[in-house]
Amino acid sequence: MAGKNEGPAIGIDLGTTYSCVAVWQRDRVEIIPNDQGNRITPSYVAFNETERLIGDAAKNVVALNPTNTVFDAKRLIGRRFSDPLLQSDKELWPFKVICGANNKPMIVVTYKGEDKQFAAEEISSMVLAKMKEIAEAFLGCNVKNAVITVPAYFNDSQRRTTKDAGIISGLNVLRIIVEPTAAAIAYGLDKKLCSSGTVKNVLIFDLGGGTFDVSLLTIVKGTFKVKSTAGDTHLGGEDFDNRMVNHFVEEFKRKHKKDIRDNPRSLRRLRTACERAKRNLSFMAHTSIGIECLYDGIDLDSKITRAKFEELNMDLFHECISHVEKCLKDAKMQKESIDDVVLVGGSIRIPKVQQLLQDFFDGKELCKSIHPDEAVAYGAAVQAAILSGQGHHQIQDIVLCDVTPLSLGVRIREDEMYIVIPRNTAIPTKKQEWFTTYEDDLTSDTFEVYEGERPRASDNILLGAFVLSGFPPAPRGVPQFNVCFDIDANGILTVSAEDETSGIANSITISNINGLLSKDEIGRMLEEAEILKLEDEKLKKKFEAKNLLEKYVYDTRDTIMTKKHVSYTKNIEVEIKRAIQWLDEHQVEDADVFENKRKELESRWDPPVVANF
Ligand code: AMP
Repeated sequence: MAGKNEGPAIGIDLGTTYSCVAVWQRDRVEIIPNDQGNRITPSYVAFNETERLIGDAAKNVVALNPTNTVFDAKRLIGRRFSDPLLQSDKELWPFKVICGANNKPMIVVTYKGEDKQFAAEEISSMVLAKMKEIAEAFLGCNVKNAVITVPAYFNDSQRRTTKDAGIISGLNVLRIIVEPTAAAIAYGLDKKLCSSGTVKNVLIFDLGGGTFDVSLLTIVKGTFKVKSTAGDTHLGGEDFDNRMVNHFVEEFKRKHKKDIRDNPRSLRRLRTACERAKRNLSFMAHTSIGIECLYDGIDLDSKITRAKFEELNMDLFHECISHVEKCLKDAKMQKESIDDVVLVGGSIRIPKVQQLLQDFFDGKELCKSIHPDEAVAYGAAVQAAILSGQGHHQIQDIVLCDVTPLSLGVRIREDEMYIVIPRNTAIPTKKQEWFTTYEDDLTSDTFEVYEGERPRASDNILLGAFVLSGFPPAPRGVPQFNVCFDIDANGILTVSAEDETSGIANSITISNINGLLSKDEIGRMLEEAEILKLEDEKLKKKFEAKNLLEKYVYDTRDTIMTKKHVSYTKNIEVEIKRAIQWLDEHQVEDADVFENKRKELESRWDPPVVANF
C-alpha cells in the first residue's frame, strides 16, 4: 500500500524501444508528455565525455555515439549471457556486452573517459527514473509509487529483475502487471465493460518493438480474468528492422563489395533509416532509402516495396498467428467465441500483420479503438490508482486475475521435469507436493527449480536451486519432503521444502544461481544511481550557470550595439571581447566559477552609465 504523502501512484509501460507513463487524475487517465512534449520516451541511455543522457536526448545522439548509447535493455534483462538469443542480438548491438559474474551480461560503455559496466536492470532503472522525473515535473510533486508492466511471457527471472530496476530507480513498485492485461483494462474502460454484467471474451494482440504477447481474457463486471497467454519475449518491430538491415547490407555487398557490418556507426545509421522506411511502408506501397556517405564515402541510394518488406518478414508474421492459435487452444476456446480482437503495440500498424490476423478470424473487424502506444501505460495507471487507494468508483471494482505464462517444476530422477504448477494457472497460487530420495541413506538433497514446457529439465530455464541438509538417513523412497511453490500477485515465485520427520526446512535462494541481484548488490546499485543522479544535477547546474553568464555577456553586447545612446564603462567593448574569450577558454568549469564570473561582471557593468558624448 502507498503512503498518504507519497504523491499519486503512476503507471509505467517500460518498453523495449519506447516507454510511456500515465497517472489517474480528475477521474480519468492522463498520459504524461515528456520535456519534449512527446507522450512516449525512447528507452535509450547515452554516455559521453561529460554527461549521461536519457530518452529523446540519448536517441538523438545514437548515430554520433553508437558504442556508448544503450537501448534494448529489456532484451537483456533477466537473461544469462550464454542465452543463444542474447548471443545473436549481441552481433547487432553497437554497444559492447560482456559476460560478468554468474553468467550475467554486463554492458560496457565509456563514460567521462573511463570504462564502466552496467547491468541491464541499471540501464532500465535509468529509464524508469526518467519516467518518474517526467511524472514529477507534470504533477509538481514527488512520486514514489508505481505499477510497472512486463510482457506476459516474461519468466520469473525477467520479472524479478524488472522489479529490481524499479527499486534501483528509487520507486516503490506496488505491483508488476502484464502488458496485455493492462491493455485490457484500457479496452474495458473504453467499452464501459467495468460495470457491465455481460461476459466478453477478448483477445489482446500486443506486438511491440521487442516483444510479442497474446492473451485471452474474459471480462465480466470489472473482473479481468486471463484464460491463457502465449507469445515470444524476442519477437517484435526490431526483428522486422533487422531483416531489412540484412537485406540492405547484402545489397551493398553485391553492389560495392563492402561489408557495412564492419562499422558500428554505419550500421546504426542504416538501422535508423530502415526503421523509418518500415514505418513508411505501413502507409505507402514503396519507399526510398538514402544515406549519404554510409560507408567508405559511398552513399546508399535504394528503394524497397511493401511486398519485399513483407516477404522478408513473412515467417515472423506467421509465427505471431501461430501464437494466437496456441493461446486459443490453451484456453480451450474456438475462435468464433472471441468477441473482440484488440490491437496493441507499435508494430500492429503493419498492414500484413493486421490482414493475417483478420483472415485468421475469418474476416472479423479488428478493434483499433484504444491507442496502441499508450494503452499499456493507461491500464498500469488505473491499477496504480486502485492499489494506492486513489481511484474513483468507476475503477474501484476492477479485479485482475492473471496466470503463470510457463509451467514451473523441479528436476527429478535423471533429468525429468516434474511440473508442480502448470502454465496458465491463475495467480496468486500456492501448491504443495511430496518428494522423496532416489538413493539410500542420503542426509542432504538438492532441489532444482525450472520453468518451461520441455520434458527434459535441462532444456528449460533453471530458476534456482537449494539444498535441504541434515535430515536423518533412510532407505530411498522413505523420506517425505513437503515442497511448496508460492506465486505472489506479481507473478514472483518462492519455493520451500521441509522434511516431514525432522522438520528441517529450506527455501530457494535464486539469486545465487541465476545472476539475480542480492540485497547488497541492489543497495550498491541504488548508491551508484544516486551518485549518477547527483552528477547529472551538478552538470545541469553547470550548464545553467554557463548559460546565464553567456546570456548576460551577449545581452550586454547587443544592448550597447543597438542602443547607441546608452553606454557602460569606457572599456566595455574591450571587456566584452575579453569575457567572450574567457568563455571560449573555459568550456567546462564548476557552476560556482561561472556564477562568480557573472557576479564580477555584473558589479562592473551594472547599472549601465549614460554616455558622455
Ligand atoms: P512499442 O514497443 O509498442 O512502443 O512499439 C514500438 C515498435 O513499433 C517499434 O519497433 C516501431 O518501429 C514500431 N512502429 C511504430 N510505428 C510503426 C508503423 N507505422 N509501422 C510499423 N511499425 C511501427
